[in-house]
Amino acid sequence: SQQQTTDFNYTPSHQKPFIQPTTGTTVTTHQDIKQIVEVTLGSKGVLNQAVKLPKGENVNEWLAVHVVDFYNQINMLYGTITEFCSPVTCPRMIATNEYEYLWSFQRGQAPISVSAPKYVECLMKWCQEQFDDEAVFPSRKDGVFPARFCDKVVIPILRRLFRVYAHIYCHHFNEILELNLQTVLNTSFRHFILFAQEFNLLRDADYGPLLELVSELKDRE
Ligand SMILES: [Zn+2]
Repeated sequence: SQQQTTDFNYTPSHQKPFIQPTTGTTVTTHQDIKQIVEVTLGSKGVLNQAVKLPKGENVNEWLAVHVVDFYNQINMLYGTITEFCSPVTCPRMIATNEYEYLWSFQRGQAPISVSAPKYVECLMKWCQEQFDDEAVFPSRKDGVFPARFCDKVVIPILRRLFRVYAHIYCHHFNEILELNLQTVLNTSFRHFILFAQEFNLLRDADYGPLLELVSELKDRE
């Protein structure tokens, strides 16, 4: 039962090493992604290995590449459900009725309640600004990462990107099922939590409403 939905260009970078040598697959549609994801899900421990710092790799570089990768994955996933997530359907950025995430527009001012699409828009813009800042995410080979890059940059970004997964899981999972993207979502989220676990980036409290799902996905082969 192949379903035609939105086409998007997306190359899951962490999967490249496992795909290119054998098939040379080019990802052009989400159908390709699904096939690729199914292939990679078949191989035991691929994601568990994929998150580990390769020998000789600079840890900040490794963290930075993954932060950008997760940002792209989440952007792509949220992009598939934007028509279902409006200020009318989701006037507050919540995950279940127990968690609401507020946005702070100005330093020193109290964060305020905004709609889910507004929150995601602000979040993505805030991430993009940091990626574009050469002093935060150096793109040049001789660029230097800022002091405490992990604590000051990586963790705050991942903590917030997680909330988009939380909102999708808690309020748009039926739409994800209709689009048949649950495998893509689960794989992306599992990669995210395994990465966070490998480098001790998020605490249990950061997982809020998804803590149970997180434990389940971590344990799965
Ligand atoms: Zn929504």
